[in-house]
Amino acid sequence: MSSKVEKLVPVPERVEADLDELARIHDPESEGWTRTVFSETYRASREWMRSRMVDAGLQVHPDGAGNLVGVLPGCDPAAPALITGSHTDTVEGGGRFDGIVGVLGALEAVRQLIEHDVRLERDLLVVDFLGEESNEFGLSCLGSRALAGELSAADLYRRDHRGTRLGDRYTAFGLDPSDVLTASGWARTRALHRYVELHVEQGPLLEERDVPIGVVTAIAGIERMLATFTGRPDHAGTMPMGDRRDALVAAAEAVLTVRQEGCGAPVHGVATTSRLVSEPGSPNVVPGTVRMQAEMRSVDVDWLSAAQRRLTEEIRLKAGAYGVDVDVEWSCDNECRPTHPAVHEVISSAADSLGVAWEPVPSGATHDAVHIARLCPMGMIFVPSRGGRSHCPEEWSDLSHIATGVQVLGRTLVELDRTPG
Ligand SMILES: [Zn+2]
Repeated sequence: MSSKVEKLVPVPERVEADLDELARIHDPESEGWTRTVFSETYRASREWMRSRMVDAGLQVHPDGAGNLVGVLPGCDPAAPALITGSHTDTVEGGGRFDGIVGVLGALEAVRQLIEHDVRLERDLLVVDFLGEESNEFGLSCLGSRALAGELSAADLYRRDHRGTRLGDRYTAFGLDPSDVLTASGWARTRALHRYVELHVEQGPLLEERDVPIGVVTAIAGIERMLATFTGRPDHAGTMPMGDRRDALVAAAEAVLTVRQEGCGAPVHGVATTSRLVSEPGSPNVVPGTVRMQAEMRSVDVDWLSAAQRRLTEEIRLKAGAYGVDVDVEWSCDNECRPTHPAVHEVISSAADSLGVAWEPVPSGATHDAVHIARLCPMGMIFVPSRGGRSHCPEEWSDLSHIATGVQVLGRTLVELDRTPG
């Protein structure tokens, strides 16, 4: 390892100053550090982000899909480029670190490369992907999805609760929907070499194990369930208990069955019921219909599909005992995406060479990396989240851990730059 590369040590105070400055740009009307996609706050934050990219020494090219792409030119512009980044939008009531650490951390890594005169062979692209968090249109990772060619024309017709189409939101944000759909063009013609994303863990594993770095093994697949329970509405005062077909009681059993399935998962698996809507909802009527929304996530594909089948059967069986029919529909939000072994290997050996302890960890949350994996081999670096908290104002990662993450990111980029292929 050259002595120049040894000097790539991030300056924590610079990352901290950037984190603080970006955190100031949040929606004053909302809880926490809210900066949701397409909002005026988000627009302002991205103006700031663009100027930070320029200050760090990047040439900034916004693409048609609303991603901010900062380029650090390498010696060989024809070589497939390295790509890193994450997102700077938040959920409503979100925190200051989710996604943000990956973009601001990458900027510090770039500053280190420039200051210590470490010239990469390949171009390095630092991307702030548009709207990673799931939005009112029920679609996450807008920018990375578009780059990977996974955003369809039909998606632009999705409507939010006010009836506004996604395509119209793009237009109001100053983006042409047809450019959004063709944005994958540049990513395909540009040829990408490897993608690595630095992110906060958003779970408790690293803190529990007292390890500063997680090397992600796989990003969990997400299967969403919509179940409709059809019983019979009856007078709540006169229908005897044994003669009822109470849809809500059947759904309540199903909630517990979902939980039980999640608790029985090996490796990493979780199952959550997030919504029950009971009708008619009158105090004196036995519930006749219930709609239930649940999801299961795991990095174990076999468990996920077996658990889906078990759950469907068990929910039907238990509901049948109450005289309630169930219609269960599943849809896959994200397929489980393992990280690429070659990138995993480079990240872990970068941590080893820096003397930094690491552990392999699964990711229960989804990330832009899922989509960029369609374009090139992908890997992720995690830093600990205090108490495993995320998507809340209390979300916190220690600066020392973030700095370690940035250092591992920098070393990983240098090593990936030298990897052939
Ligand atoms: Zn994120």
